[in-house]
Amino acid sequence: MLDSKSLDLMKVMMEAFGPSGFEREVNAICKEYMEEYADDVIVDKLGSVTFLAKGSHERPRLLLAGHTDEIGFIVSSISKEGYLTFNTLGGWWSQVLLGQRVVIRTSKGLIQGIIASKPPHILPQEERNKVVATKDMFIDIGATSEEEAGETGVKVGDPIVPWSPFSVIQNGKVAMGKAFDDRIGAFVLMEAIRRIKEQGIEHPNAAYGSATVQEEVGLRGAQTTAHVVDPDVSIVLEVDIAGDVPGIKPHEAQTKMGKGPGLITYDRSMIPNQPLKEFVINVAKQAEIPLQLSQVSGGGTDAGRIHVNRAGCPSVVLTVPTRHIHSHVGLLSLEDVENAIRLVIELIKRLDAKTVEGFTAL
Ligand SMILES: [Zn+2]
Repeated sequence: MLDSKSLDLMKVMMEAFGPSGFEREVNAICKEYMEEYADDVIVDKLGSVTFLAKGSHERPRLLLAGHTDEIGFIVSSISKEGYLTFNTLGGWWSQVLLGQRVVIRTSKGLIQGIIASKPPHILPQEERNKVVATKDMFIDIGATSEEEAGETGVKVGDPIVPWSPFSVIQNGKVAMGKAFDDRIGAFVLMEAIRRIKEQGIEHPNAAYGSATVQEEVGLRGAQTTAHVVDPDVSIVLEVDIAGDVPGIKPHEAQTKMGKGPGLITYDRSMIPNQPLKEFVINVAKQAEIPLQLSQVSGGGTDAGRIHVNRAGCPSVVLTVPTRHIHSHVGLLSLEDVENAIRLVIELIKRLDAKTVEGFTAL
């Protein structure tokens, strides 16, 4: 199970500041943690960081990827009255924003603000029934003028993330916080490599674990990472939309929190390599690790880029079902995280050259 060092890492990673394009803080945390376990550390020029676990063979190269950017915002203007407007980094539904606390990183440090909303007392009935558009929202940082706002160091282009402390609830079973999408994916691959090294687990491949950047704005880090690693096979670690939430229908989201990791059978960016998909299902069965099959009709993952790298790369996406993604706070099961780590290790142990060649043989 996850030890206290793992749980400390999870908290620090999730609370780190790092929307798309601003991942340095979180990737530096990953690098520092992994220095002890990785045989090599590669930082590419877009900011993704990759950790190598050498096995008995240099090929196949296995790429495990999880993106460390979180969805956030970026300051677009400062009004005469001292309020900030913003653009979004990644996909937000405007209804989850009003009244939420945010953190803005300025050249002078972090400041707090709130995405302001009108009190109900002065809201006409027709306005109450409407969703407020993001472009009409503003952040109140407590300033009373443009000059006073400027004194905090804030300027156009500064990044913003939700303010959302990490906590563990339900007698230690469920974690609650921001940025699970997709730092939990990076966490899973880092913990898998850590255990492989600590326990001296043998594997017939070179396993590369990457904390990728800028996924939420278009899978950009996956492109440079795939170029750097030149993988023969890839497992992307992601969150899944947990469907065990009132209002979500079974055909919209199939996985449930606490019922095991998920395997995405289709999303808008990739149809997985079918022999690899079946291989993962069989390995989970052999290792007695629960696995849920899912589908995401309206989104993509880093695998969308990795599977079309060079001449193609058999790829699959494993997930940790997470409730309420793309909002200020998500919930996930720590047992699902543990099972995802175990499954990744079982796969790394079995992905030898012959098996990987079989994924694309006719
Ligand atoms: Zn996302």
